[in-house]
Amino acid sequence: MDSLRFKALASIQDRQEDKEKPSKIIISEIFGTQVFGDKTMRKYLPKDTYKNITQIIHTGEKISRKVADEVAAGLKSWASEMGATHYTHWFQPMTGTTAEKHDSFFEMKDGEPIESFSAGALVQQEPDASSFPNGGIRSTFEARGYTAWDPSSPAFLMRTRAGLTLCIPTIFVSYTGEALDYKAPLLKALHFMEQASVEVCRYFDPKVNKAAATLGIEQEYFLVDSALFNVRTDLMLTGRSLFGHAPAKGQQLEDHYFGSIPERVHAFMVDFENEAYQLGIPLRTRHNEVAPSQYECAPQFEEVNIAVDHNQLLMDVMGKVAKRHNLECILHEKPFAGVNGSGKHCNWSIGTDTGVNLLSPGDNPKSNLQFLTFFVNTIKAVNDHADLLRASIASASNDHRLGANEAPPAIISIFIGETLANVLNELDSPVKSGKSAETNSKIKVNIPKVPEILLDNTDRNRTSPFAFTGNKFEFRAVGSSSNTSAAMIVLNTIVGNQLKAFKNEVDALISKGQSTDEAILNTLRTYIKDAKRILFEGNNYSDEWVKEAEKRGLSNVKTTPEALDAYISTQSIKLFEESGILTERELEARHDILLEHYTKQIQIESRVIGEIALSQIVPCSVEYLNELLLNYGQLTDNGFIIEAEQGKEYIQRISNHINLIRTNVFEMIEERRNANKIDNSKDKALAYCHKVKPYFEIIRYHADKLELYIDDKLWPLPKYRELLFIK
Ligand code: ADP
Ligand code: MG
Repeated sequence: MDSLRFKALASIQDRQEDKEKPSKIIISEIFGTQVFGDKTMRKYLPKDTYKNITQIIHTGEKISRKVADEVAAGLKSWASEMGATHYTHWFQPMTGTTAEKHDSFFEMKDGEPIESFSAGALVQQEPDASSFPNGGIRSTFEARGYTAWDPSSPAFLMRTRAGLTLCIPTIFVSYTGEALDYKAPLLKALHFMEQASVEVCRYFDPKVNKAAATLGIEQEYFLVDSALFNVRTDLMLTGRSLFGHAPAKGQQLEDHYFGSIPERVHAFMVDFENEAYQLGIPLRTRHNEVAPSQYECAPQFEEVNIAVDHNQLLMDVMGKVAKRHNLECILHEKPFAGVNGSGKHCNWSIGTDTGVNLLSPGDNPKSNLQFLTFFVNTIKAVNDHADLLRASIASASNDHRLGANEAPPAIISIFIGETLANVLNELDSPVKSGKSAETNSKIKVNIPKVPEILLDNTDRNRTSPFAFTGNKFEFRAVGSSSNTSAAMIVLNTIVGNQLKAFKNEVDALISKGQSTDEAILNTLRTYIKDAKRILFEGNNYSDEWVKEAEKRGLSNVKTTPEALDAYISTQSIKLFEESGILTERELEARHDILLEHYTKQIQIESRVIGEIALSQIVPCSVEYLNELLLNYGQLTDNGFIIEAEQGKEYIQRISNHINLIRTNVFEMIEERRNANKIDNSKDKALAYCHKVKPYFEIIRYHADKLELYIDDKLWPLPKYRELLFIK
């Protein structure tokens, strides 16, 4: 009988591809057609309501009942005309994915069927939420959780084959008002950072009234044929391959990166991009990535809250559309050993309502001082809270990537490029007198050099976890499957906090008689001294950097259970409480949820490893062993002594691997049992990390050896060479 793998391979051969030509699409015409955006609101809302709601979106004021009523009515008309029958509050619980609970517009009123959607249904819902992670915040007797409308993120229509559903972006909080999701603290962190930015901006331009953090998310992913995916329990249940020998050809020829996109993949890309455009997601870029079967897409940047929602939505759309093409879109950080993993580069900056990108060097001393202010404050914030940033990207899946040889390490450092490093050095050193007639003003001596930065923005360091790239910072260590809110909550909180401290220090110097520019420069100077240790221009993947970082006192926390500690350090609790973003109780709940999530992921992987090893790999290996034994018997019966000796050695080798797989699986199960007895979530996560997980590599080693020895016909799991090269 054919192995599952052979059947799957045969089904790909037999598949009838849909060769229908795509119809002509003009992106600007389909863009945003499924979004209750500006154009649609103008059409479906009374003039005053439209004005009101756009202002509220801009300022974040409270919404009156009347406005909510009219928006609800407008939304319903639009959604029904488009063909939607149901609506849902769309939220982002701590599971990392998005959640929906659909209700229909339809209801019976006085015995008559009608379609309705009230302000009440728009503004607030109470999903039966006791099964979402809550870290002890909600005991079952007080299981109520509320979702509440976020008007700053537009409602949209989600399409499946069955029809359209109106989705309303919401936050998710407990009965007592504590955040149970990513969006609630994100909105607070953004507001906090933006307010602090405006205050600082006013040193340079009193006309600035609003600043907004911006984010462009580059999304990496893998594609695998679904027939093969479906017979790999590990990919299906854990998102990564827990077994599989490296193929003879991997990424060593470097022929995939920016290579021509296979036709089948191209068709998938066009299809998901078109869906994304209709949802208002401004995708711009698509290309092959470094590993075979790895790709990337990136949108134009947007305000952070919208960019995060769009990325969550995009991941969902990519998954759904891939299935239509008999593909699986894999977002795991490390689906395949031995080839590159996937990240989600977060390009971050701050823009003002006067049209200035605060991280873009200007062409005159004044704007350069403003640039340097935001630039240096960000560096200082990252330096002071590196551990918290590390915690924000920690997950079982990202652990495989951080510190592996092809991704930024678990050590947080910043790359700024040679030109800016020189600028900071100069700022930091005492001004030499007599340099020019203008030396009495320090700014004039040092700052005019800054425009040269523009010439230097090709200076790239792909190995850095946090890099300045000319007019924005790029946080590269973020994992491909993560909700970027986690990283954005931390980044915006620490920068906001830093800007506030900066403002206080500068004001104090001004009140002592220093000029504003002097006060700013003097404050920045002290920051540069402090923060220099985190700047690193070299190769982050090298062993030398690990040693050097240790000397500099930078942390190198390799695994999640330890990394998460930073969320509940005294320093973090103080930071989040003072900034009003998360309370100690909320932080502790989050810490607990993330630990539990980690434990569960390792637990599932461990179970899948045991199951595949014992029920698939060992049986096919034993079958082959029996064949060999028969063969061996025939050789010796017929007097072939030398060949028999070689055969014996071969049989021995295979049988050793089989035995070692068995013993290690049983030992791993025993360790799992021990870990399961632990109550404390941190200790349990540590046990899973350091007692259970080490078996994964050992078991895999023996299984991967067997993959090379066992008859190809018998091997049940699609091999890397089949998974990674889509035809
Ligand atoms: P790079 O070559 O540095 O990767 P790209 O121009 O391709 O630069 O941009 C990568 C991502 O960074 C895109 O999503 C882009 O929209 C985003 N980006 C560009 N400018 C900003 C900015 N000011 N704020 C946030 N993201 C930005
Ligand atoms: Mg980039």
